[in-house]
Amino acid sequence: MESRETERARVPETRSYNTGDTALANSSELTRQLDYTLEQSLRLMRADGAAIWLADEVDGQPHLARHKGLSAPYVCEGQAPGGYHVRAVLNASGPIEVDIASEVLDGGFHPCFVAGLRSALYAPLKSSGRTMGVLAVYRKERYKFSPPEHTLLDIFASMAGLAIENERLHRAAASQLQDLKALATASAALNVPGNLRNLMQVIIKQATELMGLTASFLVLLDSEGQVVEYDAIGLDPGWAHDLAAASALARRVLAENRVMATWDLRKSDLPVDMRLAQSEGLVSALSAPLVHDQKPLGVIHVYSREHRAFDSNAVRLFHTFANQAATALENARLFDELVHAETQRRILEQSRARADTLLQLHQATKDLGSTLVLDEVLDRLCDSATQMSRADVMTVRMAGPTGSMTRLVRSLGFQELQPGSGDQQFHCVFAEVIETGRPVLVEDLAASSQAQTMPALMKEGIRSFSVFPLLSHGSVIGGVLLGYRTPQEFHSERMEGLDLLCHYAGAAIQNALFYEQERESQRAKDEFFSVITHELRTPLTVVHGYSQLLSRQLGPEVDPRLRRSAEGINEQTRRLREMVDSLLEISRIALGRFTLKKEAGDLALVVRQAAETLQVSTERHTILVNAPDTLQMIFDQQRIRQVLENLIGNAIKYSPAGGPIDVKVQRQAGEAMVAVRDYGVGIAPTEQPRIFERYYQVQTADGTRTGMGIGLNLCQEIVSAHGGRIWVESEPGKGSIFHFTLPAPESAQVA
Ligand code: ADP
Repeated sequence: MESRETERARVPETRSYNTGDTALANSSELTRQLDYTLEQSLRLMRADGAAIWLADEVDGQPHLARHKGLSAPYVCEGQAPGGYHVRAVLNASGPIEVDIASEVLDGGFHPCFVAGLRSALYAPLKSSGRTMGVLAVYRKERYKFSPPEHTLLDIFASMAGLAIENERLHRAAASQLQDLKALATASAALNVPGNLRNLMQVIIKQATELMGLTASFLVLLDSEGQVVEYDAIGLDPGWAHDLAAASALARRVLAENRVMATWDLRKSDLPVDMRLAQSEGLVSALSAPLVHDQKPLGVIHVYSREHRAFDSNAVRLFHTFANQAATALENARLFDELVHAETQRRILEQSRARADTLLQLHQATKDLGSTLVLDEVLDRLCDSATQMSRADVMTVRMAGPTGSMTRLVRSLGFQELQPGSGDQQFHCVFAEVIETGRPVLVEDLAASSQAQTMPALMKEGIRSFSVFPLLSHGSVIGGVLLGYRTPQEFHSERMEGLDLLCHYAGAAIQNALFYEQERESQRAKDEFFSVITHELRTPLTVVHGYSQLLSRQLGPEVDPRLRRSAEGINEQTRRLREMVDSLLEISRIALGRFTLKKEAGDLALVVRQAAETLQVSTERHTILVNAPDTLQMIFDQQRIRQVLENLIGNAIKYSPAGGPIDVKVQRQAGEAMVAVRDYGVGIAPTEQPRIFERYYQVQTADGTRTGMGIGLNLCQEIVSAHGGRIWVESEPGKGSIFHFTLPAPESAQVA
């Protein structure tokens, strides 16, 4: 970074706004005008020499501008013979004549006398009642100017004054034009895009250039009048350290609310920190308030290291610039605020996007987790992924056993690509994901090295894509490709969301695969049971028939032991047949070869019949039925009777100490509700959710298992097939209540 010193050195004080004599005299037009005046006056007054002094616009001091006919040695550094009379003439209303010879007699050395001049006539140069200088004519001989000559010079001086004034106005106009041009340049420079701090630097730089100075200091105040920002150019960095002083000075300028020009900082009544001003060698200053729309923003100062009398033009120019700077500052402040607001908006948008992603992810995981059917899992993955990614196309591939080949299982948005087509087009990109387990993201396919290896994607009009791995237990089981027809900018939140989704989907897919395998093996088991039981049933029926025949044919004389044996065979084959029938039933259900025979009937009657049948089998239990006289509805009477016999049978079986068994039937809210309650052993809470599973048996305290664990499963299948529900409430040692419902809309009541 360049130091302020070098910067100061680089900006010379080039222009002066002191539009006094020196500057005017330098103007060639004016010089020509002055020379013309001198020549005319020499001729008109038949004089030997002539000179013109012009008064400084600011301090009013006369300076020799041009002369003619005077010998050079006496004309130096603004002095001319007789110059000391000029001050008097400036205040006179008409010409003043000087007899140099007699003055010499009074006062000794006289520059005019030395220059060989003996008499002089001075006339004020006037225009619009203002004296701007003095015209003098000299003669070498001692000569008394006549009154007409006085009048002549007076008239001539007035005319010359007008001409000079014209020239001066012209010059001022030119200077103003130049100022305006400089102002336009400076103003254009203020129109910089960017923030407040940039603009402040531009302002101080332009201020110094505009005013032809080398140092500037800008402070911005808050509404309390405290300095909030400052910047300086051409000053030692320490200049701005006393912010309290800077703020006091700024407040004062703002209170005055005008541009304040200071000829001599030492004599200024402004609260200037003189120690700093002196250390910087600052002498004169211009300070302008920065006000926009009556709102005070701050103050800008420019400093000169030489005495500068800033004229009204300079003041006006600086004022205009300061106003423009204030507008630019206010705009920059608004712009900064806007940028800030925009940043806030973007942050808000990002967090909203993140929340959206999380919400979508939450919904997606819920959807994925609520099914175990592979096709459904894949469909839900596609729905969620396309929704989250807003992709145009999508494919899902599963890794083959060795990972070398992938199998397309889903394809969306591709016309040609169909699952199962054996297509390996996008295999390579999947292979990479499967190998590394990391996503592949290509924002612009055309600009990536993938373009060569992915002609297929390019051909499909895909310009951008991402592939995420489907992970299960740390290994990659497949991948999801999401493609876009336009180059994308992948936002990390969305990518992370998709990565997570695919992680979760991987687990869900694996679960579904396990479930499918499980179902497959279950199906094989059911098929086996179905065949076996079917095969068993025929010989069993025959054996049972013979055993019944045998029992009947045994006469009274037969050995009682033989009779018991025959009855035993009869009883056991009957039980065996019942078991085989249940098994056959369950395998039929499992294999989907199960239909209901629904018809109008009386549920209350069916319940009473089942209770009566089972009451015969026990003396220790009392089955109490609490049911309406009749409950007409549509149902499969035989199957529901089966359910009731199972539940009441279990109630008897699992309350070995005997006691009551309550069976309650009621119709409520379009449903028939049945509850079978016993006061027996009960079921542990951990077992309760599982007792309806097929082949599940609760382990008894002594480790033995009873039954086959198919009764409750059969009940559940039958109830579900009716569109009802079945559940249990139980407490170990206190008994169980099995509830089931069946749809029984009032309209279905049969009178
Ligand atoms: P099982 O043929 O073994 O009785 P079920 O499917 O009918 O098969 O019942 C499954 C398991 O539920 C049984 O092993 C038993 O432990 C338990 N169970 C069923 N009903 C009752 C009940 N009323 N009280 C206690 N346990 C019961």
